[in-house]
Amino acid sequence: TNSSLYHLDINLSINYIYLMAVDNKIEWNFNNTYLSLPKIMLSEQKPDIVDKPEVVIINHALSKELGLNLLDLDDEYLASVFSGNSLPDGSKTISMAYAGHQFGHFTILGDGRTITIGEHVTQNNQGFEIQFKGSGKTKFSRDGDGKAALGPMLREYIISEAMHYLNIPTTRSLAVIKTGEKVIRETELKGAILTRVATSHLRVGTFQYFAYKKDDSNLKTLINFTINKHYPSLKNKENLYLNLIDKLMEKQIDLIVNWMRVGFIHGVMNTDNMALSGETIDYGPCAFMDQYDPKSVFSSIDHFGRYAYYNQPSIAKWNLARFAECLIPLLDSNKDKAIKLATDKINEFDKNYENKWLGMMRDKLGMIGNQKEDEVLILDLLQWMHINKADYTNTFGNLTYENMINDKIFHKDDFLKWKERWKIRLSVNNNGKTSEKTMKKSNPVVIPRNHLVEDALKTAETGDLEKTNRLLKVLSEPYKIQSSIQDLQTSPKPNKIPYKTFCGT
Ligand code: AMP
Ligand code: MG
Repeated sequence: TNSSLYHLDINLSINYIYLMAVDNKIEWNFNNTYLSLPKIMLSEQKPDIVDKPEVVIINHALSKELGLNLLDLDDEYLASVFSGNSLPDGSKTISMAYAGHQFGHFTILGDGRTITIGEHVTQNNQGFEIQFKGSGKTKFSRDGDGKAALGPMLREYIISEAMHYLNIPTTRSLAVIKTGEKVIRETELKGAILTRVATSHLRVGTFQYFAYKKDDSNLKTLINFTINKHYPSLKNKENLYLNLIDKLMEKQIDLIVNWMRVGFIHGVMNTDNMALSGETIDYGPCAFMDQYDPKSVFSSIDHFGRYAYYNQPSIAKWNLARFAECLIPLLDSNKDKAIKLATDKINEFDKNYENKWLGMMRDKLGMIGNQKEDEVLILDLLQWMHINKADYTNTFGNLTYENMINDKIFHKDDFLKWKERWKIRLSVNNNGKTSEKTMKKSNPVVIPRNHLVEDALKTAETGDLEKTNRLLKVLSEPYKIQSSIQDLQTSPKPNKIPYKTFCGT
């Protein structure tokens, strides 16, 4: 019965489902600002459903930093989420188009085996893109299968996390899941999916994509998005575009100086692997140097040493020039003037890099202030290390902590003579505590050495993660003297077969 005389026939088809508790046990808070990027660079893409997902490793420390709740969830649930078998609410799954210079040659590329499932916003209002690597084909897969194997995904997990704790900007790793499927490479391998976390996946190659298409309007949209996301302080500046080039140059110089500091060789510094955020991205053929050799190259396909240790700053500058070229149409309506502006800007690289590199080396050696003889002192040490095949990490470790490593190489006359010169230099400026402090902050006592990572991966293949977990634990405090880690600190004996790394595995 009606309490009133009248009856309103209202529409009840609208759905208030958003008031219901959703199954968001993980507490994702997706915002997905990337959806405002030009549509022609986004491809909606769902991850493949996999056969038998199984948790290999979950990064609880990172999940806590992100404000996620993974601790109380069972493995079956986590495996289903981090394999992409069940996508969380609010997830908008996309792959991105980009281009890039690979070993100097321009190509149209794109996310061939990665799918971003959402941008998670933390309580501090920081956005992190959550991306699956190895979850199947996308519009950009070309001849690839879109899949990934367990070894390389776990390797990225270990090395990217090690980089983070070395205080080097990097993408991070939240999870590795086995898919229960086979991946065909040279042999049959176990399939896996890595969950990568990055402030964004914008690369120099993303800009090259629009420049190649001569699409200035979308290029501008992309630039505004990038500035809002990564460099909001530039917003009200004059010469916005020149300032963006300058900012990226600063970020990349800082990054490469950090790589040089710890002996990291990225291995595939193509322009599509240089991130606008200044984070290290794309852990493929990367490796850490044991014995100091500036020409160190590990990548099996880098025949000419384009991406060798000593060449990393030059290549960064080369990549930055490719970035600046994309912005030429926006720099000035007079093309010649625009080219000159960009060229002069990029040529500032050398001086800036050299200053920062010198500063970094001074820190490693605890030298306070600037003295004329510093550069010679530094180069003499590097040359000694090179000639004597001394371990890079352990040489600086030996100078920082007298007894860290007991190797007869550090008792050699020429080393002791160099040390005397160094000690005299240290006494020039008041040092003591400050010297010691900068050295301890600059010189890791442990790094993810290639033979250790390989060994951990080999046992992880059999399902035993003890070595991996130990390595990760020790690498989470690389600047702290830890007990019983000598086996992780010793340089390996030179092998007859040189260590090689591989791309796209
Ligand atoms: P990278 O050397 O990892 O930077 O990869 C270069 C390009 O190859 C990128 O566009 C990747 O997305 C793509 N790629 C690498 N591996 C695969 C794969 N297994 N399937 C499809 N695309 C791939
Ligand atoms: Mg790449």
